[in-house]
Amino acid sequence: MTNKEYADFLLKTDYDYNYYLEKYPKRALKEGQMVTRFAPSPTGFVHMGSLYTSFSDLQFAKQTNGICYLRIEDTDGKRTVENGVQGIIDDFNSLGISFDEDPIKKGKYAPYIQSEREDIYKAFAKKLIEEDKAYPCFCTEDDLNRIRELQEKTKDRLGYYGHYAKCRNLTRNEVIERINNGEKYIIRLKSNGSFLNKVILDDLIKGKIEMPENDMDVVIIKGDGLPTYHFAHAVDDHLMGTTHVLRGDEWVASYPIHDQLFKMLGFPLPKFCHIAPITVREGDTIRKLSKRKDKGAAISYYAKEGIPTDVIRLYLATVNNSNFEEWRLQNMNADIFSFQLSFDKMTLDGALFDLAKVENICKERLSRLNKDEFTKKAYDYATKYDENLKALIERDENYFKSIINIEREKENPRKDYVTYKDIYPIINFFYTDLYNQLLETVELPFNFERFTKEQIINVLTNFKNNMGLEYDEEGWFENLKKTTTVCGFCPNVKEYKKNKEAYPGHVGDVSEMIRIAISTRKNTPNPYYVLKILGEKEVARRIDEVIKKIS
Ligand code: GLU
Ligand code: ZN
Repeated sequence: MTNKEYADFLLKTDYDYNYYLEKYPKRALKEGQMVTRFAPSPTGFVHMGSLYTSFSDLQFAKQTNGICYLRIEDTDGKRTVENGVQGIIDDFNSLGISFDEDPIKKGKYAPYIQSEREDIYKAFAKKLIEEDKAYPCFCTEDDLNRIRELQEKTKDRLGYYGHYAKCRNLTRNEVIERINNGEKYIIRLKSNGSFLNKVILDDLIKGKIEMPENDMDVVIIKGDGLPTYHFAHAVDDHLMGTTHVLRGDEWVASYPIHDQLFKMLGFPLPKFCHIAPITVREGDTIRKLSKRKDKGAAISYYAKEGIPTDVIRLYLATVNNSNFEEWRLQNMNADIFSFQLSFDKMTLDGALFDLAKVENICKERLSRLNKDEFTKKAYDYATKYDENLKALIERDENYFKSIINIEREKENPRKDYVTYKDIYPIINFFYTDLYNQLLETVELPFNFERFTKEQIINVLTNFKNNMGLEYDEEGWFENLKKTTTVCGFCPNVKEYKKNKEAYPGHVGDVSEMIRIAISTRKNTPNPYYVLKILGEKEVARRIDEVIKKIS
């Protein structure tokens, strides 16, 4: 039996590795062009941490006119979730992001789903078998447990290596016999490394890291016929022409295996960039962002919260590179992919995730949209996630626009809404029927500790008789000061503070009473504009209702 026949006996494939080398020729790249890939396992949604990595993949490819492709790593059956691939693609589409090559679009290097590449991995495993660099292992779970117990007892390193790797020394005849007897096997690498030698990872972010060479006979093809991560990584990143592997730094420790696999397969090594995970602060400690504990970990969370996708992109760019924020200030309207990302500006310690900062960016973004853009986006959001808001916009789009346009479209717009989710609870009182409901159900937050019912009623009555809505904002406020004085309150806050005994309260207190009366709450958009939108008649009606209610 020749080596090739032996390999064919161990693994059945449709084609051999030469066929695949020809089928997937080297990419024709110009100097400096980068080929990156985002390679998630399909757990059903994209995690903020992996999105962060993918963002760098995309950015490096874009800025070098290169290629960024999406590869689905579903060789670990246990972790695979139904619909996971679609979920991933949906998440990216929702972010307005698309890859140059992906499982749906396909591309020259298809398939882009690892479970559909079984024949390819086996073909390359056969190459290793033929060259005596891989072998079948029949060890059962029990065998491996026994080896581990022995290693624990003798305080030796754990793993399948050296004299522990007993299947390494099986003769070809023994192997053939056991297989003919129906024994199950996997394929292991016949490591050529020594634990005493060093291998250096020259990481583009972390610098040089020295580690012992790999001497473990790691599994390359599992019992289900699919490859392990290590083997699929070497085969795919070579055949698909990846120039830069950007991945989470949990993979640093297995770099010696990868280094060895590439070399034993005769593949040149790509460049490696290991990215520290996104972290969160929890009390005094900093920990990895967790899918389970952190609500902001899943990308789908943001859409539901009414946080638009460009905010996530902006935020990730901000935490990704230390010089992004400064660039952004000078290039407010530029596509963020036109920013030049560089490895030396990427954070070493792991970006700290901060939902409050995401919300800040969001608030700022929403305030900068003009009323038409804002309405359109709010409506898109509402259609999916907020029936109440949808109904309000549909009731009267122009009325809605006049509300959300309060102090918008100016140099320093007012930031009333953090996310689209905020809109409904902030503006509902503008609508008469909803105001009436509120009035029935909520407790009006008047400060009865400082003011008597009579004082409040007096203020509201005086205001009702002289609203001053014929004036501009400044004139209205001057007029309000007059009402304040008539009611015995102090028109000037500073003066009130100097001489508190002389007055029951000041102009701010008066304006708060009015706000509460017309909206049932203390915080609203600028009251002058609220009054203008409601109109004198409705304001008068509301004041009458409130007086009735508190009397
Ligand atoms: N599928 C691996 C993961 O999700 C990808 C690592 C890599 O990018 O090579 O961790
Ligand atoms: Zn074995």
